[in-house]
Amino acid sequence: MLLNLLEYHWVEDIDDVLLLMARADAKTVPLAGGTYLLGLEDEDIRAVVDLRDLELAYITEDAKGIHVGAMTTLQMMGDSPLLKELVTGIVARASLASSFSRLIRESATLGGTLAAGVASQADLLTALAVMDAEVVLRSGSKSQVNLSAGTAERPGLALSGVTFKGKQERRVACSAISRERKPNELIIEVVISRPASGCAASFMRIGRTPTDVALLNAAALVEVNGDVYQKVRLALGGVHMEPTRIEAVEKQLEGQPVADPGSANNALNTQRVVDAIQAGMANFSPPGDFRASSGYRRVSGMSLAFRVLEEAANISRWRNMVSSEGRQ
Ligand SMILES: Cc1cc2nc3c(=O)[nH]c(=O)nc-3n(C[C@H](O)[C@H](O)[C@H](O)COP(=O)(O)OP(=O)(O)OC[C@H]3O[C@@H](n4cnc5c(N)ncnc54)[C@H](O)[C@@H]3O)c2cc1C
Repeated sequence: MLLNLLEYHWVEDIDDVLLLMARADAKTVPLAGGTYLLGLEDEDIRAVVDLRDLELAYITEDAKGIHVGAMTTLQMMGDSPLLKELVTGIVARASLASSFSRLIRESATLGGTLAAGVASQADLLTALAVMDAEVVLRSGSKSQVNLSAGTAERPGLALSGVTFKGKQERRVACSAISRERKPNELIIEVVISRPASGCAASFMRIGRTPTDVALLNAAALVEVNGDVYQKVRLALGGVHMEPTRIEAVEKQLEGQPVADPGSANNALNTQRVVDAIQAGMANFSPPGDFRASSGYRRVSGMSLAFRVLEEAANISRWRNMVSSEGRQ
């Protein structure tokens, strides 16, 4: 409960939100779906700004990639034809898996999920980490200055208390949002660049029941070209876990041949994947809690990492095979 809430603002312009959030005299936070914020015990929050009229609920595509507005709900993302056909639908599937309650998915937004971070428990964060998705952040400022009268060469009128309104926009990686975002920055949208057509993705999760939060989840994005790993992305996450990109595994596989040289049927060299995981995840030490110990997550993480990499690599190889057969 926000016990000391005094003001509720309903605005139609992003600049108004930025000015309200930049106030130093009253802690003002954005209100999106409200599923997390309204249950928060934060006695410092004095005001909320409702974002629902900002027209930030959209999923579009242009040359820069797919743009998903901050007020897009998890359900809209799960239902979006654009996201469903994007690399085996990993973002759409992870959006739906993020909460098994349709009621929550219909309210919870992308912006709220990113800003809540680990507390959101959302599988979506792990999927966005492998898509190299970027968050567009905007902040505003208002400053009062006294202008002097200028010089003999450049005469001017002295004015006191002139108000300047400033605006800054920057992009940060989705996986770094909790570390990077400042309290006065509003999440505007997420941009996902479209990967090469041969890319494939895989997403898997472990929960106590199929409808429970994920004790652990894993996502992989793999592009195989000419039977060589061109691009590999691997991330692990789960409840109370910051999604972690496992770059050491990615680097070990990129540039390596996919198939086993001795294999008659050109099968995937699974030993190479196992070796990369064992070496690359040697320092992986996930947090433990009452649901799952660090050791359990570590061992299960290695097994999940193998399964998502294997699946994504196989789909990517199959896609390349089908598209090259189509060209013949
Ligand atoms: C009963 C219940 C069950 C839940 N189960 C799940 C679950 O299974 N899985 C799951 O992932 N989550 C779950 N949640 C948590 C919640 O649904 C998520 O954290 C949700 O994604 C938050 O989104 P929202 O739009 O409701 O954000 P809000 O609650 O409106 O806001 C969350 C935070 O983000 C900030 N914020 C919102 N929008 C922006 C923006 N554009 N820019 C900057 N900051 C912003 C707010 O100020 C606030 O600090 C559950 C919540 C409840 C109440």
